Amino acid sequence: MPRFLLPPPRLLARVRWLFLLLALFNAAVMLVMLLLVSSTDRVVQVAALVGLVWLCWRGLRGYQLMHFSLGPVLFEGLALLLVGLAVSPMRALGLFYISLFFRALYGSVHRVATITVVYLGVYIGANIIAAHYGGAALSLVVINQALGFLVLAGMIHVLGRTLQRHEAAVTQERLLREAGAALVVAPDLGRVCVAVRDSAHALLSGGGQIHVWILVGAPDALIIAATSDQAIRDATAVPLDLATFPRSVQAPLLAHQCVEVPVSATSGMPDALGIPSGMSWCTAVPLTVHGGLRGITGVSSESPIGREQREALITLGSMAALAIDSTILAENLHQRRSDEHFRALVQNGSDIIAIIDAGGILRYTSPSLVRILGFQPEQWVGWNVFGSIHWDDLPRARQEWALLLADAGSTRTIVFRMRHAGGTWRYLEANAANLLHDPITEGVVMNIRDITEHKLLEDQLAHQAFYDSLTGLPNRALLMDRLNRALARGSRSPAYVAVLFLDLDHFQVINDSLGHAAGDRLLMAVAEQIEGCAQPEDTVARLGGDEFAILIEETNDVIDAVHLAERIAECLRAPVVIDGREIVVTTSIGVTLSARGGSGADALVRDADVALYAAKAKGRARCEVFDPSMGARAFERLELEEDLRHAIPDGALRVVYQPIVNLATGQMLGMEALARWQHPRRGLLPPSEFIPMAEQSGLILAIDGWVIEEACRQLQEWRLPRPAEPCLVMSVNLSARQFDQPDLVEMIARALHASGLPPHALKLEITESIAMGDADSAVATLNALKALGVQIAIDDFGTGYSSLSYLKRFPVDTLKIDRSFVVGLGHDAENTAIVRAVIALAKSLGLSVTGEGIETAEQLHELQSLGCDQGQGYYFARPLTANAFGARLNDEITRRPRPITSVRGPRPNRGIA
Ligand code: C2E
Ligand code: CA
Ligand code: CA
Repeated sequence: MPRFLLPPPRLLARVRWLFLLLALFNAAVMLVMLLLVSSTDRVVQVAALVGLVWLCWRGLRGYQLMHFSLGPVLFEGLALLLVGLAVSPMRALGLFYISLFFRALYGSVHRVATITVVYLGVYIGANIIAAHYGGAALSLVVINQALGFLVLAGMIHVLGRTLQRHEAAVTQERLLREAGAALVVAPDLGRVCVAVRDSAHALLSGGGQIHVWILVGAPDALIIAATSDQAIRDATAVPLDLATFPRSVQAPLLAHQCVEVPVSATSGMPDALGIPSGMSWCTAVPLTVHGGLRGITGVSSESPIGREQREALITLGSMAALAIDSTILAENLHQRRSDEHFRALVQNGSDIIAIIDAGGILRYTSPSLVRILGFQPEQWVGWNVFGSIHWDDLPRARQEWALLLADAGSTRTIVFRMRHAGGTWRYLEANAANLLHDPITEGVVMNIRDITEHKLLEDQLAHQAFYDSLTGLPNRALLMDRLNRALARGSRSPAYVAVLFLDLDHFQVINDSLGHAAGDRLLMAVAEQIEGCAQPEDTVARLGGDEFAILIEETNDVIDAVHLAERIAECLRAPVVIDGREIVVTTSIGVTLSARGGSGADALVRDADVALYAAKAKGRARCEVFDPSMGARAFERLELEEDLRHAIPDGALRVVYQPIVNLATGQMLGMEALARWQHPRRGLLPPSEFIPMAEQSGLILAIDGWVIEEACRQLQEWRLPRPAEPCLVMSVNLSARQFDQPDLVEMIARALHASGLPPHALKLEITESIAMGDADSAVATLNALKALGVQIAIDDFGTGYSSLSYLKRFPVDTLKIDRSFVVGLGHDAENTAIVRAVIALAKSLGLSVTGEGIETAEQLHELQSLGCDQGQGYYFARPLTANAFGARLNDEITRRPRPITSVRGPRPNRGIA
């Protein structure tokens, strides 16, 4: 079907379409009349036919095009005349009507009037011609017809206009609805203004070129929020003042009225609006809410815009004002909330937030200054912060400060001490950011944290790592460190280094007969005497038990060392009074001397040990100087090492298991696997007799590997018959040497796979010493182990390494507090403080803590009250053979649940059960 035969969707178009169909129908009837009824001559008939086709063509074209010009209309009139002549004037009138009405639906009043006049002329002419031929006179009917004809055409014209307006109103309403929707969803001011601009374009399109601009803000500071040419907005950041607008525009807007004025050559409007030249009309709508001006929507055009369009613009303006108001409110609210959050953070944060200018003057500090340094913020603001930094830390702090200032935007971490109001010094760590260039801050922003506790713990641990807790003397680690340094200084000086090893004779007898406490006091007294004999520059160390050592860093002759040994023997001859008894101790002393840069520290210590052994062998209470023929002890070591080589193949290694318990409930959580060596001649040897040697020779790799396999196998054997029991965890020691093996992870994975033990049931105990080497590779190894699923514990925590910084980087699960700290719990305040600090540190890092070597109820209660999670020690159980452990496990399961107070270790018995 041809397109024009389908009813169009819109009302006006539908009316036009109906008229068109009527015209076609009329033309068809006319055609039939022409061909069948008419008797006029052939020439007129053919001409009328052509005219008819022309009229139909015009009707169709008129439907599509609405242009009007007089030429075709006259031609149309001629066609009508011919049709009228060929059929009858009255019939042609039908065609006139239809054609005219059809046209009336389009054009303006004067166009319809012109057509009417032309058509009427044609009609009257046709009547005159017909009257001339047929004799009938121009009657009143004709005039009557003509008047009715005019009125009807006028009415139809009005109808057409009304329909047209109705349609425009519907379109406008739809556009406004769409604009409303766009404004409601616009998330911010910028998007609101863009929506207003686009809606204005849609509403005013059709009326020629326009330029839209939207200003937001107070009358004296209007920001260009959107314009038809976005580049203009982007280029203009300076606010406009309404006072700079032409008065004709300014005054009505200030009175909150819409204004439409010719702006003479637009020169009166600010250039920033980017109004194209030639647009000399300006329509501006104030955007007002609750009587306040929020901005202006303006349209510049070549000619005035219509009334309806202006009204639509006003409606759009009031919607825009509401939208702008609500986004400003929302933005303010958001800003206020984040300001409040920020303020709360700064005011209540535990760190000090400070702003310092380039000269070091404090401009702002948060209230936590009071908590950390004891000063009120007003006491410090305006003062130079460098004045309160510890003088030892000042040079470094100034250096860091200079580096920070040299690089805008850079950040640095500075650690320094500052004086507290109470006169003490606090360690502070400041994260400083150079924001001097930032217009809001214009200073260095510092986030300052109090790390005093952390530092003190570090210092205490460092002290513990290098000093003996009983006597306060340097320990073996510090002795070895000083020895190494002394030997390294060697080549610059011709002097020798001497080492004396001392071992009290029969100390064990005194200890056993008088008790440990008396033994300890005796050791302290002896330590004091030895120290009194040595020179201040010598190092007197306690190596453990009743063994001491003295390092003389510079001596010319071995005689000096021998004289010192004699002085010590002399001093010790005076009795020591312990618990009212006079006790006399003697000591055996081994001396060795090395040229600097000569033998290494280990060799020197071994030689001193050999000399000591020789002194003991020769009847004690004497001094022996090392000489290479004293190889007996060295030989003994070699022999033992050789035996150890065969221990694994011969099945002489054993693993014993010591329970690890939950200190709160007493429930067994797991066990630690500890190696033992069943030596063919010497009997069962503890790790201290062979592990150090195994570490030196590298045999430790095989031993650790074997212990891990055996421990995994054993735990799986215990687990299998008890699937419902909570999973026990097997802790296994890993030597630092094993930790450095590239195939460590595969080795562990193999052991787990072979035994079937789930990875989380295995906990590897490593020592802090791994942090001393390549920390990056240690972290990588630990991550690989964690990825496997096994747990990691730091063993003997607090004895090894003086810095705690590695802890944050190492992915570990547990800290095991060394036995040396647990021993003093309850009576040694320093030990208790360290244990408390270690537990707090572990908690802050989310780690569990295991207390080692718990021997007494007092130690247990102390650990419980400090919040320690887990523990092991003779108080609960000594290390047990696999059989004994299995039996205990059965026992524990049948008796569960048990409160902690009922947990009793077996009576301490020598050796393993
Ligand atoms: P460690 O890892 O600190 O093991 C704990 C040590 O403390 C064990 O000594 C244990 O018997 C002992 N112990 C436990 N509770 C108490 C207590 O209440 N009082 C006292 N005085 N001691 C207690 P052990 O079995 O002699 O092991 C000594 C060290 O030998 C271990 O110290 C560990 O560093 C090392 N070690 C043991 N087995 C292995 C192993 O298979 N491989 C490696 N690399 N090292 C091992
Ligand atoms: Ca251990
Ligand atoms: Ca330990």
